Amino acid sequence: MVKWQAHNIEEGRHPQSGRKARHCTICDQYWTGRVGVECPGVPVLHTYSEQYGTKTQLARDRLYPPDEEQPDAAYRVKNAPYYGWLYDRSKAIARPLTSGQIAGNRKREETIRQRYGCRFCSTRYTKQHYVHFQHGTCGTCRDRIRAWNDLLASCQKLKAEDTFVVQVETEEPRSLVKWGSLPALTLTSVEVWPLSVETPAITAETPLKDAYGMLHFYLDSSGLPLLFASAVDQEVVYRWLYPDWNFWENFHFKDFHVLRFSHDLAYPLPEQKDWRVFSDRHDYYQPNAAAGYYRELNDLFGLGMQDPLVPTHVIRQIVLTLADRDPIAFP
Ligand SMILES: [Zn+2]
Ligand SMILES: [Zn+2]
Repeated sequence: MVKWQAHNIEEGRHPQSGRKARHCTICDQYWTGRVGVECPGVPVLHTYSEQYGTKTQLARDRLYPPDEEQPDAAYRVKNAPYYGWLYDRSKAIARPLTSGQIAGNRKREETIRQRYGCRFCSTRYTKQHYVHFQHGTCGTCRDRIRAWNDLLASCQKLKAEDTFVVQVETEEPRSLVKWGSLPALTLTSVEVWPLSVETPAITAETPLKDAYGMLHFYLDSSGLPLLFASAVDQEVVYRWLYPDWNFWENFHFKDFHVLRFSHDLAYPLPEQKDWRVFSDRHDYYQPNAAAGYYRELNDLFGLGMQDPLVPTHVIRQIVLTLADRDPIAFP
């Protein structure tokens, strides 16, 4: 190891205190009393220097001292041998990782991910959240898979019942998300489109009073369920059809569905490790914002629909698309 030697003592003054002290010209240490340690033969640093690092610090940057037995500097430690060793970075030999080592690290990383990671996202097992993992899936993904599979099941049900999708137009712009009680909205047109056929049963051009009669006929004769793009649309139509009934108490309410695009809705692609989460946290009161929302849905579900996007047409296409999807297999 390090060759100890005798200090080369000169009489001098301590640079900070100015007191008389003995100084070693080799290791640059000062003593006012007895000299209790041996001379390391290299300067002892009193403050941190970028130029020097310990073996471990250098190795972190893939730098290796040419000879570990010959340190370039030292720092004092409490216990024997009372010195820690420092090496000059500029003298160290750099050994960058080879492409093979980089590939190896990547492979190891991948193995760790497969063994300890969630199958659906980038969450890893740690001891603390080990209990939240089941079948290689984290708790969040499990909830989302459940919500996603529920959504697929509800779309299949809507398709099986041949639900009629209702598009509403009002004079005033209206919120997509319902907050509190609904403001007074003036209905201008209603379009009703069954999921099973390629043309609407009631078009947007149908006079409102005719649409009213036809819709009542559908509901009263066959009790067909209706699907709305939003809870606001649902309530607008309900008030129009049943002005004397309490929206929240009437039994007809159960036939009025809203496809919920809440934070439950996520879109896992087979190769996608992180979920794309879509939420309706925004209040799309402005028609422009609502248009953006439906454009996002169009992209999210790869519907390939053209502008201008009519909300209900997008919803209708989503239901038909999702009804044909297989649920995510999950034990
Ligand atoms: Zn010395
Ligand atoms: Zn996960």
